[in-house]
Amino acid sequence: MSVLLVLEESGGKIRSTSWEALAAALKLGPAQDVTAVVIGAQTEGLAKEAAAKPVGKVVRVEHPLLAQYTADGFSIALHQLIQNQNGTKFVVFPHTYQVRDYAPALACRLGQVLIGDVIAIEDGPVFTRQLMQGRLTGSYRHSGSGPCFVSVQAGAFRAGDEQSTGAAAITTFSPKIEAAQIRTKPGEPFRESAQTVDLSSAQRIVSVGRGIKDAEKLPLVQELASAMGAELAASRPICDNGWLPMERQVGSSGHTVSPKLYLAVGISGAIQHLVGMKGSQCIVAINKDPDAPIFEVADYGIVGDLFEVVPALTEAVKAAKG
Ligand SMILES: Cc1cc2nc3c(=O)[nH]c(=O)nc-3n(C[C@H](O)[C@H](O)[C@H](O)COP(=O)(O)OP(=O)(O)OC[C@H]3O[C@@H](n4cnc5c(N)ncnc54)[C@H](O)[C@@H]3O)c2cc1C
Repeated sequence: MSVLLVLEESGGKIRSTSWEALAAALKLGPAQDVTAVVIGAQTEGLAKEAAAKPVGKVVRVEHPLLAQYTADGFSIALHQLIQNQNGTKFVVFPHTYQVRDYAPALACRLGQVLIGDVIAIEDGPVFTRQLMQGRLTGSYRHSGSGPCFVSVQAGAFRAGDEQSTGAAAITTFSPKIEAAQIRTKPGEPFRESAQTVDLSSAQRIVSVGRGIKDAEKLPLVQELASAMGAELAASRPICDNGWLPMERQVGSSGHTVSPKLYLAVGISGAIQHLVGMKGSQCIVAINKDPDAPIFEVADYGIVGDLFEVVPALTEAVKAAKG
């Protein structure tokens, strides 16, 4: 089954979430059936970056009117590409702001809907997405003859595990776009506020919850994170209180993370928190309540007072590092 993977660029590089979308695309077909798509006016560098990944081929969708992103330009160009490529079964995107802007319109042009913010793909394929702030999950199966449009949630699929097949062939597709078809005038690109942390790509995270009780006690956990070379994250109440910035919040209304190690300190394990971190490879929880729900997802649990356990752990980590 042929899969079109639409990559997104930022600052002249492919966004890392695009590689997570590649991991999702590879669940829908083998690498040789995956065609990576880069869009713009000068996509040579992006195409080379994509060709080194495990994809069958790379298509550069090139037009001067695509130099800057517009929803009209991108949906017209991709519509023509899909019509030009026979037998596309799936069109996969990272679930970014840009994709949310144009992908539903693109799907509509082909009489389809976008299955957005997918967190898992099972055999069938069956796509899972969260509903009602993560309280429920919904399963979706595509029916009908047109391509199935899917965008995948950041952090839900692990990028980089797949082996590259070498250098994929690169071809160029030139869509026909008239200036009058672009109904919007692009302004300055939206710049997200400068982030000091990228939790979605962190390998180790120490996350702190309301069990810490007081902002003044946070350095205790920060010290453990530093000793472990980990990023500091938090449950929502910690960020709501302004004890840590919102960019460090994990959960349904924060970040979705999938580090190798997630150490939850004084976090109860509410569903809204779990949906953001349960994809972590190894979860360790410290909680004084043996019945805390966090232990249901933890690989290792320490039942104890964090004010005793955390300093001891920090000392042990420092001692182990010499
Ligand atoms: C629409 C919506 C969206 C939400 N989005 C998010 C989200 O994105 N992320 C998020 O985290 N939450 C989110 N929440 C909030 C969520 O429901 C929980 O309220 C929150 O996760 C609880 O945070 P907590 O575990 O830090 O605190 P608590 O639930 O209060 O848990 C504190 C834990 O610390 C333990 N503890 C206390 N003292 C100690 C000690 N001395 N040593 C060891 N353990 C101790 C306690 O046993 C307890 O388990 C959302 C809620 C709603 C309604």
